[in-house]
Amino acid sequence: MATRLLRGTLRLWGGRAAPCLPPASRCSHSGGEERLETSSAKKLTDIGTRRIFSLQHDIFRESVRKFFQEEVIPFHAEWEKAGEVSRELWEKAGKQGLLGINIADHHGGIGGDLYSSAIVWEEQAYSNCTGPGFSLHSDIVMPYITKYGSEEQIKHFIPKMVAGKCIGAIAMTEPGAGSDLQGIRTNAKKDGSDWILNGSKVFVSNGWLCDTVIVVAVTNREAHSPAHGISLFLVENGMKGFIKGRKLDKIGIKAQDTAEFFFEDVRLPAGALLGEENKGFHYLMQELPQERLIISDTAVSASEFMFEETRDYVKQRKAFGKTVADLQTVQHKLAELKTSICVTRAFVDSCLQLHRVKRLDLATAAMAKYWASDLQNRVAYDCLQLHGGWGYMWEYPIAKAYVDARVQTIYGGTNEIMKELIAREIIRD
Ligand SMILES: Cc1cc2nc3c(=O)[nH]c(=O)nc-3n(C[C@H](O)[C@H](O)[C@H](O)COP(=O)(O)OP(=O)(O)OC[C@H]3O[C@@H](n4cnc5c(N)ncnc54)[C@H](O)[C@@H]3O)c2cc1C
Repeated sequence: MATRLLRGTLRLWGGRAAPCLPPASRCSHSGGEERLETSSAKKLTDIGTRRIFSLQHDIFRESVRKFFQEEVIPFHAEWEKAGEVSRELWEKAGKQGLLGINIADHHGGIGGDLYSSAIVWEEQAYSNCTGPGFSLHSDIVMPYITKYGSEEQIKHFIPKMVAGKCIGAIAMTEPGAGSDLQGIRTNAKKDGSDWILNGSKVFVSNGWLCDTVIVVAVTNREAHSPAHGISLFLVENGMKGFIKGRKLDKIGIKAQDTAEFFFEDVRLPAGALLGEENKGFHYLMQELPQERLIISDTAVSASEFMFEETRDYVKQRKAFGKTVADLQTVQHKLAELKTSICVTRAFVDSCLQLHRVKRLDLATAAMAKYWASDLQNRVAYDCLQLHGGWGYMWEYPIAKAYVDARVQTIYGGTNEIMKELIAREIIRD
């Protein structure tokens, strides 16, 4: 039945099979009231739950789950050793219609809604595979181009990004400036109509494989505040003076290619400027809620995955003549974990709803990011503990989930910075 429905929803799109997704413009869902929330579902990862989704979303989710099971999970250990996923995977994801889902079709995107994008973030978290930087590419980098880019930039980049033939990244952080982005030193100076870019960036996700990167640079040192003198540039791989340093050796998310960049007198044409000169900081502030929402949703999804792994484990592991799940202290721990995860899921789903109608503000997104990523780390700690010594072994998925969780409280703005943003709103008159 599901397969038949799935086939029924496929249509030919730009010469390839693409899922017929709920369009971005449609805001209501029929049948939502009858859907189970995760707290009442058999498993937290079940398809067909949560009132924000529809049957069409479920069918899409089945196909995305299958994609991660067949195209990602079997190869991920190999990619962890290599420190990068294959380019072929990106093109397969493009062919399957998994990139640029929430990008309007008149811009060359798939034209699906935000929830369909979220399904890809969530299914990746359920696969326990952190290598492919799809969400960064599709839901962080592409929106900068479609919202602030010129028609030429949109035409040049979006179709090949949707096809997985051009991988996107964004480089804000520098060795000397992370939380305090106004302290960046990478700069671009005008030379006729061109720009000359100098400086360096670090911790760039998708950095090693990327074909294009949005670089944040100072363009006016005399501005009345640093925030008013920052611009964004689209820099392409292969430009003279654009040097990729090395793939960084991380403690987790090992298949994700995180790199450092150096810019030595890179000559950029006027057309490389993204949006208006000196408006870069303003654009970053506009886009950060979506980045934080993605982290929140992946954090709660990873928690759901870890919970289910652990539930299965304790139900079969024997100790003192019974299963570990028969011990009351273990049952209470599972009850605490499930409650925390379901409460967080409800808040993150409400943030998804708000963002769908463009009402997710900076402080609420910061709350979701801080809360969900902290939760993910607590869940990782407790679930690993419930696996005993086996949880410390790489062969058990919980070990990887534990190390992969750690970065979630750091990138996208650290959780200390999230509290700053939340607090600012609290004390504001
Ligand atoms: C794996 C990985 C991938 C990343 N991907 C990207 C990417 O794709 N693009 C990109 O641009 N960046 C990326 N980053 C960078 C990330 O966003 C920064 O690491 C993060 O913003 C923190 O900056 P920092 O590392 O310089 O820490 P710092 O700013 O030096 O902070 C050090 C500590 O001080 C605390 N601190 C700083 N200021 C305050 C304050 N005002 N109040 C309270 N505490 C404070 C911080 O919370 C932190 O605990 C990535 C990082 C990692 C690890």
